Amino acid sequence: MARKYSSKINKIRTFALSLVFVGFFVMYLGIFFRESMIVMTIFMLLGLLCIVGSTVVYFWIGMLSTKAVQVVCPSCGKHTKVLGRVDMCMYCNEPLTLDPTLEGKEFNEEYNRKKES
Ligand SMILES: [Zn+2]
Repeated sequence: MARKYSSKINKIRTFALSLVFVGFFVMYLGIFFRESMIVMTIFMLLGLLCIVGSTVVYFWIGMLSTKAVQVVCPSCGKHTKVLGRVDMCMYCNEPLTLDPTLEGKEFNEEYNRKKES
């Protein structure tokens, strides 16, 4: 079974974006509980928390991006960022590696886990 991989930065970005939508959705749900001030406030706070969380995640992406190694993708020729030992091109999902020993091997996210040996 082929699993679909995507660039880590893209994945986190998608997560942050969905968090914004979840936040707005939760706030919207709060409107249905107008009768109860407490429940509505809880929903509003939860929604706000999600949106604040996404801002934090966006900030975190920014931090990660500065640490990521910028490389030129051999497949599409665009500048992309590599996080960890193996990552995918942000544009064409070409597997990229910074470790020459892994070059040519089948892409596997397991390589990012540190081996204690
Ligand atoms: Zn590419």
